[in-house]
Amino acid sequence: MLGRNLKLNLKQKSKMDELSILRANEAHPKIRKLLLEKYKEANNKLGKGCRLRLSYVYRSPEEQEELFKKRPVVTKSRAWQSIHQYSLAFDVVLLYDKDGDGKFEEVSWDMKRDGDKDGIADWIEITKVFVDAGFTNGFISKGKKWDFPHFQMDVGLDWRKMKAKIDKGDFKEEVQNGKRIKYINL
Ligand SMILES: [Zn+2]
Repeated sequence: MLGRNLKLNLKQKSKMDELSILRANEAHPKIRKLLLEKYKEANNKLGKGCRLRLSYVYRSPEEQEELFKKRPVVTKSRAWQSIHQYSLAFDVVLLYDKDGDGKFEEVSWDMKRDGDKDGIADWIEITKVFVDAGFTNGFISKGKKWDFPHFQMDVGLDWRKMKAKIDKGDFKEEVQNGKRIKYINL
């Protein structure tokens, strides 16, 4: 019985994207467990030829500033103005194994693709898991939803209030994946 369970667990585990599991550890301690759990749940909704990847969880202020300077414009947020600097946000992308060789070489933001042919687009399936868990998807601006790969956990603070906590020293520092991350106290 134990052997059988172990085998099942291993089988489930091999389906996960290892990089995403590592990145989930960069999330703020308040959402870390939830993100990991929901990542697994969302990934399990996908068919054999598809995996969910967390393309970003934490983004350092330096990386954010680099991104801000990029042309054409990719973001309006400067260093410390993105919720990613506080590890309360994450971005997703779908990876597909086009030729069945076990490598997931195709990166996709296609919101209509239904890889496992269950009648629900893969993108919609994974979005539902996170939204049901309390994460906010995208941004609403000018009555339209933008940035569908982005999710964040609202904690009742905007970035200015979060930054104020950093400036006051109201945070705990931890090293995750070799990055020194400041997690604001919540
Ligand atoms: Zn994002």
